[in-house]
Amino acid sequence: MKIAVASGKGGTGKTTVALALAEAAATGVCLLDCDVEEPNCRLFAPAETVSEPVGIPMPVIDSARCNGCGECARICRFHAIAALKQKVLLFPELCHGCGGCSRICPTGALTEQPRPIGETGLSNNGGFPLLDGRLGIGQTMAPPLIRAVKDQGAQLKETELAIIDCPPGTACPMVTAVRGVDFVLLVTEPTPFGLHDLKLAVEALKELSLPAGVIINRADSGDGRVRRYCMLEAHIPILLEIPARRDIAEAYSRGETLLQAAPDLKPAFKKVLVSIREMTTKEAVR
Ligand code: SF4
Ligand code: SF4
Repeated sequence: MKIAVASGKGGTGKTTVALALAEAAATGVCLLDCDVEEPNCRLFAPAETVSEPVGIPMPVIDSARCNGCGECARICRFHAIAALKQKVLLFPELCHGCGGCSRICPTGALTEQPRPIGETGLSNNGGFPLLDGRLGIGQTMAPPLIRAVKDQGAQLKETELAIIDCPPGTACPMVTAVRGVDFVLLVTEPTPFGLHDLKLAVEALKELSLPAGVIINRADSGDGRVRRYCMLEAHIPILLEIPARRDIAEAYSRGETLLQAAPDLKPAFKKVLVSIREMTTKEAVR
């Protein structure tokens, strides 16, 4: 089973929840940190890491073989390549490495070379494997790196549950991270900003036809609009409400996880996992 932990905006406690779920599951679980621009999970589980570079195929132009037909520029939907008379220009930062241009080039003027975009890292310190993606400095192509983390996560042995810490927001990186999962857990907070971004995330998940539930973090710090939205408008189950507690915030700032700071919450997180399993099983039977 794959559970994605997502949020419409950053700072809601998504990483905290992802780590707590992995700790609550204890065995047969792996944590995939797909928030590749800010892979914070490893800060809470520092350990020896095995790194692996990740790259995307980048076109290389042989001007001598180019006839200036412009087919490469026409097929590139990202405007990463421009054909000007006999000269072809490549804008590497816009290239998604899809390979379309080199396949369509009629003269073989375009070949491909890997361009590094970041790396994956595998460590095992919190009692479960942690696999994360780290986007290189100045790199912008998060989706291929997220796919690499998910692919490597699928190869991990003796794992029956994958918890995926997703990038915040509802853009391509988040969609790449949630694609193919069994359930999405949306972490939000009971504030107007939290509600606004939760609505965006719920709409995005509807488009993807993914089942979802909500965890409200710092639940006693705002008003009841998030609860009303979940229950009356979106009809999404609220699986857990985490109270705003000073001892949790202080422990978190010292680099402790939520369950290290508040072990009394462990049964509640275990119950969340059981509820998700029940909901996904019912969905599969339907
Ligand atoms: S498709 Fe090939 S031959 Fe045509 S402009 Fe591009 S590089 Fe040149
Ligand atoms: S590999 Fe894809 S994204 Fe990159 S220049 Fe070619 S067509 Fe455009």
